[in-house]
Order: sequence, then structure tokens, then C-alpha cells
Amino acid sequence: MRPARLDPLFASLTAVKGVGGKLEGLFRRLLGTDGPPRVIDLLFHLPSGIIDRRARPTLAEAVPGAIVTLEVHIERHRPPPPGKARAPYRVLVSDETGDLTLVWFNAHRARIEPMCPVGETRIVSGRIELFDGMRQMVHPDRVMTVEQAATMPLVEPVYPLTEGLAAGIVRRAAEGALAKLPKLPEWQDDRLLVRQSWPDFAAALRQVHMPAGPEDQDPASPVWSRLAYDELLAGQLALGLVRANLRRPAGRANAGDGALRARIEAALPFALTGSQRQAIAGITADMSAGTCMLRLLQGDVGSGKTVVALMAMAAAAEAGRQSALMAPTELLARQHAKVLRELGTAAGLEVAILTGREKGRERETILARLASGETAIVVGTHALFQEGVTFHDLGLAVIDEQHRFGVHQRLALTAKGEAVDLLVMTATPIPRTLVLTWFGDMDSSQLTEKPAGRKPVDTRIVALERLEEVVDGIGRALAAGRQIYWVCPLVAESEETDLAAAEERFALLEQRFGAAVGLVHGRMKGADKDAAMQHFVRGDTRILVATTVIEVGVDVPQASIMVIDHAERFGLSQLHQLRGRIGRGAEASTCILLYRGPLGETARRRLDILRETEDGFRIAEEDLKLRGEGDLLGTRQSGMPGFKVARLEHHAPLLEIARQDARLLIETDPQLAGPRGAALRDLLYLFGRDEAIRLVKAG
Ligand code: ADP
Ligand code: MG
Repeated sequence: MRPARLDPLFASLTAVKGVGGKLEGLFRRLLGTDGPPRVIDLLFHLPSGIIDRRARPTLAEAVPGAIVTLEVHIERHRPPPPGKARAPYRVLVSDETGDLTLVWFNAHRARIEPMCPVGETRIVSGRIELFDGMRQMVHPDRVMTVEQAATMPLVEPVYPLTEGLAAGIVRRAAEGALAKLPKLPEWQDDRLLVRQSWPDFAAALRQVHMPAGPEDQDPASPVWSRLAYDELLAGQLALGLVRANLRRPAGRANAGDGALRARIEAALPFALTGSQRQAIAGITADMSAGTCMLRLLQGDVGSGKTVVALMAMAAAAEAGRQSALMAPTELLARQHAKVLRELGTAAGLEVAILTGREKGRERETILARLASGETAIVVGTHALFQEGVTFHDLGLAVIDEQHRFGVHQRLALTAKGEAVDLLVMTATPIPRTLVLTWFGDMDSSQLTEKPAGRKPVDTRIVALERLEEVVDGIGRALAAGRQIYWVCPLVAESEETDLAAAEERFALLEQRFGAAVGLVHGRMKGADKDAAMQHFVRGDTRILVATTVIEVGVDVPQASIMVIDHAERFGLSQLHQLRGRIGRGAEASTCILLYRGPLGETARRRLDILRETEDGFRIAEEDLKLRGEGDLLGTRQSGMPGFKVARLEHHAPLLEIARQDARLLIETDPQLAGPRGAALRDLLYLFGRDEAIRLVKAG
């Protein structure tokens, strides 16, 4: 149960003065909350900048373009002349050093007159400009009496906004939300706070929302760092608690005697690589150890992760346990199911598929066989962790491309069995900072060797103007008996446009090469798609024009050339994944990145990196860098996915401290039962990491 002292923060935002029901919808959009926005959501909506009104020059000193606060004498009003209501309303003001015109458009005399009484002194604040050589200030932000000005903060936060929600409303709502901050016990170590000169949580939050100056806007400032550290610690603590509570009951190993594994291995059409063997050994050892497995399997595209996962699943089946593999998309799930079925037949493992597409009777049958234990392996999408899905005895959950799923979803899947082992597969090696934020402390296995016989791919960047030359080259390759993928982009404005582009390319190639050319795209019916793929696999068609990454996901080792049309439209990792489809056979392979110029700087970098390297790790890092830059330009504040305050580029060093801190905390108080434990529970609630609290005893 959430402690009652936190209630004011989890109350609806409408509890804040000035936020009526009408504004609730706008705030919901602004804050991007799933449900109605709460006070806490607004408190974590941090300013993206400030307006600094502290400059108090005389009129003669005021620099045009700057925001200034001026003390002026009101001289005279110049309302729009009769019949010219659209002309601006002007008020002339002065100080000892010069004069200034205040300008309002569409303003009513009734509003301006009492605000600027002739003969009196007023403080005005806004941006000063030169117009026809005269100083003016259009729509001053503030016009105040001297007394009013004395209490006005001269530094104002600027918030990211959404249409219909004015800056002032958000600012006042944030102030109202701050007023609801209760007194909270300190959850951080005092020595750490002293060492880092960090204030307490409430003070830090207040100062970020009511900055004293630009220094409070710096993510590296003590106030921001304190909040970022709170968030990072909450994350590490939650992940650590999950881990610490995944103890395996004595005598319940999830890996059996090796009989099924031996059968599968004997039937494989290839020999396992050394790193595949190592990974399988590490995984199956974990599956028998005292705590449940939490392991990452990293391996570049084509490194052979699927067979490693299959061996782990076979080990579970030997122990009488079931396995689930969760993929991010339905198509990927189907592809996995197909491969697992093929490779798993030798062991007689029943493989089922469960996505949103299985409905009615079919679905019921699948669910019944899962519940009875007849199905050993189920492959699916997030449909797998829905409520109606029950397992006879789930022992292993394998998750492909984990970063698309949240902690919550991972927990939901492991909650479907007793002592479920978790294996996360990822194609792009993830930088350590991201591993830590997504998974916490996690073991990892790396597939460093490429399966035998892989040759480097020769990658070339070619402008679309040279299309004819490329087609000529394809002709020569065809004559030499090679097979070619021609990939068209899937990121145009609409599906129709994508399709039209692919069909146009298909027509061009067909005109030249006739029946050797096949086409496969996302709009085709399942059976037609399969047929088109089969033709290519058998070599009946020798050039395959394809629209999506997924459809070329089928393995055709003899295809050794890939043309990527409009390569500038693909992301770096996507290009790398695509290219990974060739270079699998004995022949040397070529990848042609066909681009339509002019290339932007980022697009150019992407293509250059791809030409320079096939190292998935380097590509992943460069991708992160390039995207990071994009994120900075975008509206999103947080550069770290799933984080409200912490930003990778500033707070990465804090992550390591948080990891160690969390580990120590869990060692000393695994149930969060002590006084600091109670405070830490507050922290977990505040940052929405409280799923972890369900795992520890009520305190
Ligand atoms: P990824 O790691 O990208 O998921 P896959 O598991 O799809 O890679 O494997 C890519 C291809 O390599 C598949 O056709 C698979 O059968 C094959 N493969 C896997 N391991 C080996 C191996 N040791 N030797 C040769 N081919 C292998
Ligand atoms: Mg794969």
C-alpha cells in the first residue's frame, strides 16, 4: 500500500487551484499520461529553459533584442484613430535617458488605460526592439506597479507546451503542484548528499521549477543531478529487487539431462560455433542455479541467436518445463515459430504461435494445449502475457529485442510461472549504460563469432542518377548465376506510395530481366507472400523486389547482392540488419546503397558508417549518437527512454553509483523494512517503480 503521505502527489491534477476539468484534457496531452494527469506528473514536467528578467538597464542602456525590466514614466496614450480599429494601441513612456513605445495589437482601451495610468510610474518587462529607429516593446510580458514588481520573481521557468495551454497556466499550475509537496523522509545517504552538495528532494524540485538563474537550468547542476540520481536509484533498486526475489525453490532446476539438446544438435545442418556453445553452457548453468536467470544474449544479425534460444528451450523441456518466446511484432513471431519448428522437430517439441491474429476456436485450442502442458514452446507477441494465458509449468521466457518492452511487461511474463528464467536476445549490442537502465545488473553472453563461411560484404554508396549502371551490373551478376535482393523503402508518407515505388521498380527490372524478377510486399495475402518467397528460395526468381525488412527476413544464403533503394530513408541499424541478410553464403557479397540526393549531413554519415564497418557494436553506438542529436532537436526533453529527469549525456556517471548503491541497499535490507527502506519505498512510488514493492513483504 502506498503510504498516505504521498496521497497529495498522486491526487488528480484538478486538485491544483486553477486547473479545472476543462484544462485536464490539455494537461493530459501535455504530460502524455495514460490516465488522468496527477500532481506528480506535472512536478516531473521540468522546464526546458528560463526567461531571465533580471537585466534592469536604463532606456539608453537597453540592448535591442534583449529581455529587460524597466522603470518608466507613463507619458501618453495613442489609441487607434477612429475607423482604424486594426491599428495598434500605443502608449508612450520614458525615463531620464530616453523614451519607448509600448505596443498592443487588438487591445481594448478599457484594459490598457487602468494598466498604464498617465503620469504614474510602472515597471514593464519584455523584449525591447528597434522599429524605424525608435525603441518599442510589443505586448510587454509584464506591466506592474512598483509594489507588485517587488514580489515578482525575475527569473521565470519556460515549459514545453502543447497547443491551447498558455505558458502562464502551466507555470501557475506547477506552482500549485509544488505547494502540495509533503514533507518526505530522506531516502538518500547523508554522506552522499554532503559530498555532492545536493539539496533534499522537495527543495531540488522547487528550485528546478522556480530557478534562481540559468545555473538551475543546467542538468549538471546539483538540483537537477539530485533528481536524476533519485530517478536512477529508483530504477536500479526496482530491477535489483526483482532480481533478488527471483529465488529458485530447492530442487527445481529448469534444465534437464541434455537428451533433447543432443538430438537437436545431431540434426542441425551445421556445427555450432564456439561462442554459441559457450552461450548455451552459460544459459543452461543459470537455469539450474539457485537464483533465476537474468541473462542477455547479444549477437549481431546473423550470429545465430535463434538456435541458442532453442537449445535453452530444449533444456527446459527436458526438465518438463515450458518456454515462451516473445517477439516485438507478429511477423517476427511467425518467423521465429517457423525456424523453431524446423530445428526442433528432431526433439519432437510442439511449437505453438499466439498473437492477436489467433482467434476463436483456434485460440482456445492453443490456450488449452498451453494449460495442459502439451505445448512445449509458444512463440508470440505481447498477447502472451495477457490474463487468459496460463501455462502448465512455464520455466523459461525468451524475449527478442527487449528494449521495446518495459519492465512491467517483463514482470508480467515471469509472473506466469514459478521461478521463471529470463533470456533477453538483442541483435544490436547495447551500450552498458543502456543495459543498466533497462535491465539493471544482468549477466550477458556474447556471440562474437560469425557462423563459418561468412565473408565481408563490399558496401558501396551510389547516387540514384546512376541507376542504369546499377541495373547493368545486376545483369552481369545474373549472368554469373547470382541472386539479388532489391529492397524498397517502407517509410514513405503512405503505404500506397511505398507500394507504388516498389511496383515501379519491379516494372523496370521486369522489363529488362523478365520472369527472373519477383515481387513481395506487405499488402500481399499471406499465401501469395509465401509463394513469392518460395520462388526466390528455390531460385525460380533470381531478383526479389521487396518492400519491408521483415519479408526479406527469410534466410536465402545463395543471395549475395542487395540493392537498397532510397537508402537515405532507412535508419542505421535498419540498414545494418538488412545488409545482414547477405554475406551468408560462400560467395563474396555486395551491398549497394542507392540514394537520392542531396543527402543531409546525418544521412551522409549513416551511409558512410555503413560502408566503413560491419561491426554491429560500432554501428549501434554511432546510431545512438546520431539519434541522440536528433532527440536534442526534437521536443522530447529526456534523452533516456523511459526517464523523466535523467539524461544519458549528463547523468551517465551517476548510473554506476546508483547501481552500487542499490546493490548495497538490497544486501543490507532486502525487504526494505528499516527506516531508510521505508523512505526508499516512497522513492519507488514517486518514480513509478513500485511494481517491485509487490515482491517484498509489506513494511
Ligand atoms: P540472428 O542472430 O540474427 O537471430 P539467426 O539465428 O537467424 O541469427 O541465424 C542466422 C542464420 O545462420 C540462420 O540461417 C541459421 O540457421 C544460421 N546459423 C546459425 N548458427 C550457425 C552455425 N553455427 N553455422 C552456420 N550457420 C548457422
Ligand atoms: Mg533473430
